[in-house]
Amino acid sequence: MERTKIPENKYAKIAVPLPIEGVFDYIVPQELRADIKTGQRVWIAFGRSKKIVGYVTCLSADSEIQGKKIKIKEIISIIDQEPILNPDIIELCKWVAEYYFCSWGEALSAAVPGGLKKGKVKMTSRVKSGLGQGVVLETKLSPNAGQKQALDKITESINNSEFQVFLLHGITSSGKTEVYLQAIDHVLQLGKTAVYLVPEISLTPQAVERFKSRFGEQVSILHSHLTPGQRYQQWEKIKTGESKIVVGARSAIFAPVNDLGLVIVDEEHENSYKQEDVPRYHARDTGIMRAAKCGAVVVLGSATPSLESFCNVNKGKYSLLELKTRIDNRLLPEVAIVDMRKEIFGRKQAVLSRRLEEHIQQCLQRKEQVILFLNRRGFSTYCLCCKCGYVAECPHCSVTLTYHSNNQELICHYCNYRSLPQTICPECQSQYIGYLGLGTQKVESELNRCFPHSRIERMDTDSVSKRGAHETILKSFQKGETDIIIGTQMIAKGLDFPNVTLVGVINADVTLNFPDLRAGERTFQLLTQVAGRSGRGPVPGKVIIQTYSPDNYAVRASSQHDYNSFIKQELVFRKQLNYPPYLNLINIVIRSKHENKVIKAIEKLNRRIKELFQQKNLPLISIMGPAPMPLAKLRGMFRWGLTIKTPDITRTNILLRKIVTKDITPSGVKIKIDIDPQVMM
Ligand code: ADP
Ligand code: ZN
Ligand code: ZN
Repeated sequence: MERTKIPENKYAKIAVPLPIEGVFDYIVPQELRADIKTGQRVWIAFGRSKKIVGYVTCLSADSEIQGKKIKIKEIISIIDQEPILNPDIIELCKWVAEYYFCSWGEALSAAVPGGLKKGKVKMTSRVKSGLGQGVVLETKLSPNAGQKQALDKITESINNSEFQVFLLHGITSSGKTEVYLQAIDHVLQLGKTAVYLVPEISLTPQAVERFKSRFGEQVSILHSHLTPGQRYQQWEKIKTGESKIVVGARSAIFAPVNDLGLVIVDEEHENSYKQEDVPRYHARDTGIMRAAKCGAVVVLGSATPSLESFCNVNKGKYSLLELKTRIDNRLLPEVAIVDMRKEIFGRKQAVLSRRLEEHIQQCLQRKEQVILFLNRRGFSTYCLCCKCGYVAECPHCSVTLTYHSNNQELICHYCNYRSLPQTICPECQSQYIGYLGLGTQKVESELNRCFPHSRIERMDTDSVSKRGAHETILKSFQKGETDIIIGTQMIAKGLDFPNVTLVGVINADVTLNFPDLRAGERTFQLLTQVAGRSGRGPVPGKVIIQTYSPDNYAVRASSQHDYNSFIKQELVFRKQLNYPPYLNLINIVIRSKHENKVIKAIEKLNRRIKELFQQKNLPLISIMGPAPMPLAKLRGMFRWGLTIKTPDITRTNILLRKIVTKDITPSGVKIKIDIDPQVMM
């Protein structure tokens, strides 16, 4: 057959994964015209680069710039035989680009599986995984009244193929996961597919196991420990329709499923759903957009819904589903607050209060297990000269160095700078160097001292850095080989160990004292989540929270399991300060090695924003800053920022694009624009 003349494929509009707006016209050379398709990757010459990867967003018979002075280049070659991006994903990424302030190509590269990003086609032979060899799949549980009510509403919407967002607010261990599993089952019966998002840290072997044993080979699980080859394999299984369910963290929202019927976002309040690098998308909100475009149903689940979602229920945008009791009417654990200000022994800072120590002892005697939580790794968080007050800081970042006892080093948790601990103060030459502030390693050593006959494990990014370490620690805890686990937020979520009857929070103030508008919200969420690990089995649980701020409303409300009273207070505070969910924020950070350049650039930007917004009559917009960021220096770069508060994010976004031009950021000056920021450090 002759493969010439397909005139409609003469030109391609190509998006590039660079911070440059727009799509670019390229000629499809004669010999490629029969093979080119929208959604493929191609090699192109671009600007001064000889060869970069581009994404074909559409094909046409004409080009508007044809005949003008610009010379249109030819596509060099096609990379993929078949398109790797479906049309709906290409569209979704266009929205991501517009809303989150990046180029279409940058957004598209988030949808391409890791192994393919550099333009390589990595094909590994498919290996069949162990399941499916006559393994008996777990059957579904019979739902209780609350679960049934929630499921009825969800399945009704699924049957009608109507876009709708449900907020499933269920206390810890109320059976939310079972609702998700059965909703997915329903979707499968209709021949549709489901995407189930979890925060990366809750992709525990336990959670994965539950999905595998329920759905077997129909599930693809995308997590960060996959090799690029494995990731590609899963991605291919999804694309061909062999997998009907995708379970994964953030980026799984771009998975190439067809006939999407259901999107579930578990722990929807988690800030890890927001990507910190370009494209700075929020997976929950992107998921809602994806579902809206194809008439799918969304279920957002949480024991502590975000203020944003809570308000969307009040506005009538989302429907609320509630699970108010624990499975089998088990009681929520009793929570006690210990005022650490009264626990100073001599002049030494206490790690364990007398009360917590006693309870651990009792627990161990009864052969029950203990989870201890401290959201800070390392041994001591700062190294101080008790004579002159000198504190060891990272030379590249404005943060204190953390002492790690296992290899006796001071480490910067931002840039990984390492140095040996000082014995003599570099400022006053005295020998009174002390280590203050608590990290998980110090708690571990204190536990070993207090409970020498117990088996203790630590779980934080240092202890699980080796592949498989995470699983090993949890397996041994599950088998009862470990008595106490001390960990960071890694252990706060998703774990379901019925023999855990005591949870201790070593210091609730760590998150509370963060310089962040969501510090109260995060503290409430975290405390509620960790508390939820206690008493999940037949024996009632206990929680002990150690804090220096026992009267703080977030701490109080979480100790009483009182989401509503927390929300009420927090909303008053947000309203007073004009913070989300009442307004949207845009955080802009400018950084450079030279502080004067940073200040010059941010002031210029500030002036321009004010001028333009006055001109365009957007009076409700206000600007916080410019000011140095809490991390005023990071990896050797000085950082200043400003935050725009706006009631009209779409319009503000459009105007901002006119202002942020090349002359704001001369060479050596970098800009970061974060829409709906979750963390502003
Ligand atoms: P959540 O996700 O709200 O924390 P889960 O779905 O993990 O709660 O449920 C907690 C425990 O209760 C799990 O061990 C689960 O197997 C069990 N469970 C959930 N629903 C039921 C049910 N309808 N009948 C019996 N056990 C259930
Ligand atoms: Zn000193
Ligand atoms: Zn550093």
